[in-house]
Amino acid sequence: MTTVIRIKETDNVAVAVRDIAAGEQPLPGLTALDPIPQAHKIALTDIPAGGEIIRYGVVLGYAKDRIPAGSWINEHMLTLPQSPSVDDMPWGTNLVRTEDLPDPPRTTWMGYRNKTGPAGTRNLLGIVTTVQCAAGVLKAAAERIRAELLPKYPNVDGVVAVTHPYGCGVAIKAREAHIPIRAVANVIRHPNFGGEVMVVGLGCEKLTYDMVLPPEDITPDNVLTLQDYAGHDAMMEAILAMADRKLQKLNERVREELPLSELLIGMQCGGSDAFSGITANPSAGYAADMLVKGGATVLFSEVTEVRDGVHMLAARCTGPEVRDKLAAEMRWYDAYLDAGGVDRDANPTPGNKKGGLANIVEKAMGSIAKSGTSPIVEVLSPAEKPTRHGLIFAATPASDIVCGPSQVASGIGLQVFMTGRGTPYGLDIAPVIKVCSRSEMKEHWFDMIDISAGAVATGEKTIADVGTEIFNFILDVAEGVKQPYSDQYGFHNDMCIFNPAPIT
Ligand code: CA
Repeated sequence: MTTVIRIKETDNVAVAVRDIAAGEQPLPGLTALDPIPQAHKIALTDIPAGGEIIRYGVVLGYAKDRIPAGSWINEHMLTLPQSPSVDDMPWGTNLVRTEDLPDPPRTTWMGYRNKTGPAGTRNLLGIVTTVQCAAGVLKAAAERIRAELLPKYPNVDGVVAVTHPYGCGVAIKAREAHIPIRAVANVIRHPNFGGEVMVVGLGCEKLTYDMVLPPEDITPDNVLTLQDYAGHDAMMEAILAMADRKLQKLNERVREELPLSELLIGMQCGGSDAFSGITANPSAGYAADMLVKGGATVLFSEVTEVRDGVHMLAARCTGPEVRDKLAAEMRWYDAYLDAGGVDRDANPTPGNKKGGLANIVEKAMGSIAKSGTSPIVEVLSPAEKPTRHGLIFAATPASDIVCGPSQVASGIGLQVFMTGRGTPYGLDIAPVIKVCSRSEMKEHWFDMIDISAGAVATGEKTIADVGTEIFNFILDVAEGVKQPYSDQYGFHNDMCIFNPAPIT
């Protein structure tokens, strides 16, 4: 069985597939000088002080002191390289041809067609608040809708109360306020809500209906203001009556056979470890390539986790305008972090480091793998909707619970989530499929992780095997044939939309 994995010939480190004891010989002529924890790096050669530490063929950092061959390399032993410049990045120098992408085993799926935009993967009544102040009422109303109304409408999959933290007590005219406002506006039109608009406001908030709805949608059929009602009973009755009318319409929706071009999905990773970039993310990337070849649209995100590999992404951009927007999103985020007095290396978590990821460069190289190899046809600002089909970089924070809602606002029908350390993360608007990077993770959370890519590390499965498994599971979940564990248990995170603007 494989003991260590070296990705590129030029790498001077390898990753331990399992815990290695001091004195063991993981490779001929290489003796471990220290115990090497699973997923951590072992030096393959003597590395002088100041020498490059190379994994994925990329310089992760520079050795602070001399590192003898066989040593354990932890995050304290290397310094971070300079962040690459985003000025004048060459674009289009690595465009993989569509015919060279792997063929998808299925080219159609059963989904809920919408008048415009991508199709739904679920048929949900979505009720969106314009302000957090209305959240308590809406959550209580949603419980009653589920208990009293939903059983009458068997074709409707569920009721979602979208209770985000935005709407009032915020600087609504701040430079960046358009980001959370766009997120609220776009989530109202989420493909899984079938075009049925239901918005609940309080009445005195800053985020008014005209900021999130076109004039023709601001009608008594679609919007409801709590302060207009005389007390609890009248308020609840009004919400339930509106919900009942929407449910009647939603109940008429049926799935139909659709091309993959009507499918929009997102990719994210979280709680990553050093295996994420070897097993789970490349497998998800393989599934992404199959989807793109079939005409689907795939979003990947997490700015701080692509920042150190941004040149690789620019090389995959199909035009200078795509490259320019990629650079603009990177500059915006650099300034955003700088204003907070940090840089991109604020990203790795204690769990990432325990999982063998020394710094953000190493994390980024693994993270980018989930985008597969397809050309990047568009770059989106946070919560923007795509206008093209294919692989798209959607700029979002890397934070799991913020990236998810941001991609949801962009309209994803489901998200594929790769994890090394494990997280129960899920979303109520779009199903989340969990893919883990290590077999031990799947054994530990056997009934919470949907797919394990761990067998790639041990050589029992290939990236193509697991990638095809992920592709098929994506389509099964999109069609409602399968429910990922997060939906089976109702493990759903809150709608934490990204608000980089001041709160007053
Ligand atoms: Ca994340």
